[in-house]
Amino acid sequence: MKNINLLILDDKEENIISLSALLSEVEHINIISSTDPNEALKICWKNDISIALVDVQMPDIDGFEFVSILKSNPKTSHVIAIMVTAISKEDKYLLQGLESGAVDYLYKPLNPEITIAKVSSFVKQVHNQEEIKQKNIALEESKAQLIKAKEEAEEARKSKEIFLANMSHEIRTPINGIIGIIHMFKNSTLNEEQKSWVNRLEDASNSLLLIINDVLDISKIDSGMMKVEKENFSLHKKLEDICNLFKIKALDKNLKFEIEIDPDLPEYIQSDPLRLQQIINNFISNSLKFTDEGKIIFQAKVVEKLKNSTRIKFSVIDTGIGIKPESVEKIFLAFEQGDDGITKKFGGTGLGLAIVKRLADLLKGEIFAESVYGQGSRFCFMAEFENGLQPTSDKNINKKNISQLTRLNNTVVLVAEDNDLNSFMLSHILESWGCQVDIVKNGRQAVEHINIKDYSLIMMDTHMPIMSGFEAIKEIRNHPDAVKAAVPIITISASVLDYEQQSAYEAGADSVIRKPFDPNELHDKISQLIDTKNVIY
Ligand code: ADP
Repeated sequence: MKNINLLILDDKEENIISLSALLSEVEHINIISSTDPNEALKICWKNDISIALVDVQMPDIDGFEFVSILKSNPKTSHVIAIMVTAISKEDKYLLQGLESGAVDYLYKPLNPEITIAKVSSFVKQVHNQEEIKQKNIALEESKAQLIKAKEEAEEARKSKEIFLANMSHEIRTPINGIIGIIHMFKNSTLNEEQKSWVNRLEDASNSLLLIINDVLDISKIDSGMMKVEKENFSLHKKLEDICNLFKIKALDKNLKFEIEIDPDLPEYIQSDPLRLQQIINNFISNSLKFTDEGKIIFQAKVVEKLKNSTRIKFSVIDTGIGIKPESVEKIFLAFEQGDDGITKKFGGTGLGLAIVKRLADLLKGEIFAESVYGQGSRFCFMAEFENGLQPTSDKNINKKNISQLTRLNNTVVLVAEDNDLNSFMLSHILESWGCQVDIVKNGRQAVEHINIKDYSLIMMDTHMPIMSGFEAIKEIRNHPDAVKAAVPIITISASVLDYEQQSAYEAGADSVIRKPFDPNELHDKISQLIDTKNVIY
């Protein structure tokens, strides 16, 4: 414990000597003394005095005055002043002392025990105050550090967001081109061998897209940017679609695929159909991947029926290779696989179940895995789903071959896209619907083209050099010619981030399509826009 400075002010030297002798028993103090109040004031200003024992009756400045001066100076106002007096214990003196700022009295002749006890208790008080002060300083420091760390984390989150937006654009743009060209191939006349090449190409680009989407998904979830939708949809239809897809894949591997759907399952639920499908798809894909013989069972069971919701458990059970007990927990961690040989034999990134775990959390559900090594595994997802309502109309329309879609003759489209493969593929699709297409490579050129020609529609990439799609849209929307300013604009975004779509709408886009896009979806969007905006050339 640090020693504190204690001042004794008394005009009589002998009083100082006796008081100092008395206080020699008090621990953690340095005694400084003076017989002159003016000198004592200087001592208080210069030294860090914590306690002052002040004689009341002194010739020039009396004790009350001395304490008043101490208290009125911010440098010394903290000093704990104790009056030492031989005069009467009457209230008026007591009050005068307290009014001047003293906190207590010691009466002459001094009682040694009381004097030591009082001074010791004030020394303790000073130490406590010092401790509180130090703790406050430490608290302020850690608060400042926390604020700094929070700012740094926010900064890092922002950089991650920008990186994610750029990466998703850079990676998904060329894949969009590849998948688009595959669509074009599939619509051309091919011999059987060429058809099989194109199918392989399609499989490979779809797998590549899946891996990229996984990487983007996990980064998106981890940076808090994945939002779950709440949509009313038919659970039965969704499960049927999922099972239809995997039945064929199971058949290809000579595996039995059994489906057990609880008849009590609600027909419609409110949740995020895409994320639910992603979870179930992942379980079944893994079962297919890790099972060479036997069967895969898909179960959807009602666990509990609540007033407005239903607790449902989806399970995928297989007779595959199983997982070692020590690995069951860690497979839900990102980049973790059952054992080291798995990648060599089966491939994979170890991201699937980590994404599933995070998606399950977002849907406020839980996942669990049970497995017997060498015999098989069971993966479950359980959550509470709000019951849905039967929609008045079914939005689902059958997908058509792109060349069978309604012609969009006389639609003049300006495509602004810096990626050659994408603009080539997009113009080919648009031309196959009867559109006339002009291609430019950046937002600046798009604005220039608008000035010299009338367009029915603009397809605008968001990330382009020289002038971005967002900037170009803003310029077009401010065009002095009202018809040109109102031209329908669809942005083509390769971003997986919702805020990018939002920015497109804020800039003035009428619609947004994500890369890689489905030609059917594009056709729908164009038809709707041209109809609703009623632009006829
Ligand atoms: P990936 O399959 O891409 O490696 P996942 O995260 O989907 O990544 O799976 C992680 C690991 O969990 C797999 O590598 C595998 O070891 C194990 N695993 C998942 N599902 C099964 C299953 N049905 N049977 C056996 N092992 C499984």
